[in-house]
Formats: sequence, structure tokens, C-alpha cells
Amino acid sequence: MDDTRSFVIVGAGQAGRWLALTLRAEGFAGRIVWFGEEAHAPYDRPPLSKAVLKGEVPAAQLALIAPEAFAALQVDWRPGQRVTAIDRTAREVISATGERVRYDTLFLANGGHARMLPGLPPHPRVLSLRTYEDAQAIKQQIGAAQQVLVLGGGWIGLEVAASARQQGKAVTVLEAAPRLCIRTVPACISEHLQALHAAQGVTLRLGCAVEAVDASDRGVTVLLAGGERLSGDCLVVGIGLVANDALAREAGLATANGVLTDASGRTEDPAIYAVGDVANALRPDGQRLRIESWENAQRQAVAAAKAALGLAHDPAADGPPWFWSDQYEHNLQLLGQPLPTHGVIERQVPARGQRVFFFCDGPRVAAVAAVNAGRELKIARKWMQQDRFPDLEALADAGTDLNKLPLMPAAA
Ligand code: NAP
Repeated sequence: MDDTRSFVIVGAGQAGRWLALTLRAEGFAGRIVWFGEEAHAPYDRPPLSKAVLKGEVPAAQLALIAPEAFAALQVDWRPGQRVTAIDRTAREVISATGERVRYDTLFLANGGHARMLPGLPPHPRVLSLRTYEDAQAIKQQIGAAQQVLVLGGGWIGLEVAASARQQGKAVTVLEAAPRLCIRTVPACISEHLQALHAAQGVTLRLGCAVEAVDASDRGVTVLLAGGERLSGDCLVVGIGLVANDALAREAGLATANGVLTDASGRTEDPAIYAVGDVANALRPDGQRLRIESWENAQRQAVAAAKAALGLAHDPAADGPPWFWSDQYEHNLQLLGQPLPTHGVIERQVPARGQRVFFFCDGPRVAAVAAVNAGRELKIARKWMQQDRFPDLEALADAGTDLNKLPLMPAAA
């Protein structure tokens, strides 16, 4: 391996973590300069909207890489340093302090930032969630609040709503779309989430257009189209993520809702890769997609690190995409991409609060949504990996043990 090369990683979230780990695990012994815009060592974001908001997890437990393992990586770690420009001719990144750092390969893993309503002036009672500091500020506001308003019925909105309800706060969620999480889950899951939050006492307002927000020292008022006004002590805005693709764009790289890459994360400049939330990658099926998930950040980072080292890697072998969300005591997991053309088979064990939706394409299970049913999802993942499935009719019967069902090749 060529140890004289110098790699630069911009971004210290899940994607940056897997770049550094994979480069070293695959034997790269050259220099790695790793920039993190935040002052912290790389930390895990999923707990921010849950355990951190509820005060259940100290900051030290969020570390993405344990201190000894981090030291063993032997990276030139630059916390609190924002990279502001890329000089592609000189192959250098330029930090906010004006320092230039040369690279042979540059990895952009600089994620995204929370979308805000246009024209909404900053106010301490109007909050968004992306960083540890954001979570601390929301925790403080929720702690002092009686009525919490949440704008956006996506993952941030619902997880924050659950955390606030668990602290006994009155919560109203305002969602523009006709159903929850409309961009990422099929209608049966939106309905499940809606029933879950309604049962926990959250007021859900769907199809709701916000005209204006007024924040003062006394609280926040939201004006809805139609003239209705809703008041609360604070407003948490979770209306999506905007990719931090300006750095690449200003360096002349192609961007369109993220940095355009091939399936291995390579941009049009072979010396630059982009992975995670910031990357709009070509999928094995030829579709272009920017995926905002923890697992996708890992997969893309591993693929890009291997590609940069000239190692073979087949992203299609990673299997279907997966993500999870924890709300109240409920765990929801989604494996694969349910399509409107799929048949849906539901399996329920009410006593355990379990619901499993199998999304079927002919004799195959193409995707699974599992509520409190991690074991069932794991079994279905095995079927999908082997392309061998049971008689799908048997799935609805909660009395059958999924692990004991005879499997048949789907092609047969
Ligand atoms: P999100 O999941 O995309 O949800 C945003 C929601 O807000 C969407 O339903 C969106 O509807 C709605 N919305 C947009 N504009 C609105 C408006 N003006 N008024 C009311 N509703 C509006 O994004 P997010 O919840 O903000 O999360 C941000 C990032 O964190 C995402 O990358 C998400 O995946 C990640 N995250 C993930 C998890 C998890 O995986 N468990 C948990 C927390 C956060 P439209 O789709 O119609 O625009």
C-alpha cells in the first residue's frame, strides 16, 4: 500500500466515522486529516431526539468511536474547523482559518442542515435539531414548557413529540402533508404512527399550512392558513434536511439536491468522493437518490473508502436499505422500499404490541415494516438475502413460527 498518500475527510458524523474506520481497517497507513465542524469528537445523532432530550444519556456515551480506538486510528483530527473551500487545481482544502491542507483523495461527508421556514427570524423559542447543542437547547425549552408546538410530522417531529409527551408536556404536531412521514413510509405505517401518537395524547394537525410564526419572550404563536392561531411555549421545526452541497458546488462539482456521485461515491472529479446525507448517488438500479439514513451513511462510506483504495466492493451486495425509529416504547424498523404496487400482508400479535407488514412482489417479500418485531424483521432479511421465501399466505398467521416455515426459491 502506498503510504505517501494523504486523504482528507470533511465531516465527523456517521459517514466520516466509517470512512476513517474503513481506510485504516483496509490497511491504509498514510496520512488522514479529519475535519469536524463541531468542537466534539465524532458523536452519534440518533439519540439526540430521544435519550438526550429526556436527559437519559450523558454526552460521553454518544461517542461514535471509543477514545482508545480513536487514538489508534492515528488521524490528524481537526475539531471545530470548518472547511470553507476546495482548490481542485492545487488539490487542497481551505479551512475557515485560511489553512490549506493538501489531499490526494478528498472525502466529503459534511451532511446537511435543518431546513427552516423562509423568512423566520432566529429566536430562542424556535428551534431545529441537528447538533448536540441543538438538542440541549430543545431539552431546556421543553423542560420549561407546558405546550410544545412541533412543525413537521417527519422523524424529527415525531421523535421530539414522543420525548416531550413522555415528559408530560402538551404537544401539537403540525404537518403540511395529508399523512405523517409521507416521503419515507407507506400509508399503513403513517396510519400506525398517527394512531400511536393520538393514543399518547398528541394533537395531530395534518394538511396544515403555516402562514406565519410570531415568537416573543412570552411564547410562540403560529398562524395557520384560514386564520386559526395556535400558541405554545416553544416551536420545534423538523421540516427536512438540506444537503450541505455548497462546498462542492462552489468548487465546480455537479450538484442537484446533493453532490452527484456514482455508485461508489465518486464525483466527476476522481480525487473527490461524497458520502452520506450530502451525496446524491447513483443506485445499482440506475436511480439517483439522496438517502438520509444512518445505515446508508455507513454503507456509502465503506464503498467510497474501498473504491479510493482500489479494492473491489459491490454495493448491491449490501442488501435492502434499513432504518429505525424509536417513539415512546415502540420500535419501528423498515427494511427495503415498499412500493404502491406491492401486496401487503399484515401479521399482528396485539399482546406484544407487534405488527409486521410484509410488502410482497409475487412470491417475494420485497420490503418489511416491523413494529416491536425486530426478530421477525431479521428472519425476513435472511429470506430476502437468500431469495427464498415461505408460502406468503402463512405470514398472516401469528401462530406460526416464521423461522420454522419451509422456504422455496422465489424463481421456482
Ligand atoms: P423529514 O423526515 O423529511 O420530515 C419532514 C416533514 O416535515 C415532512 O413530512 C415534510 O412534508 C414536513 N414539512 C415540510 N415543510 C413543512 C411545512 N412548511 N409545514 C409543515 N410540515 C412541513 O425530516 P426531519 O423530520 O426534519 O428530519 C431531518 C433529518 O433527520 C432527516 O434526514 C431524517 O431522516 C433524520 N432523522 C432520522 C431519524 C430516524 O431515522 N429515526 C430520526 C430523526 C431524524 P413533505 O415531505 O411533504 O415536505
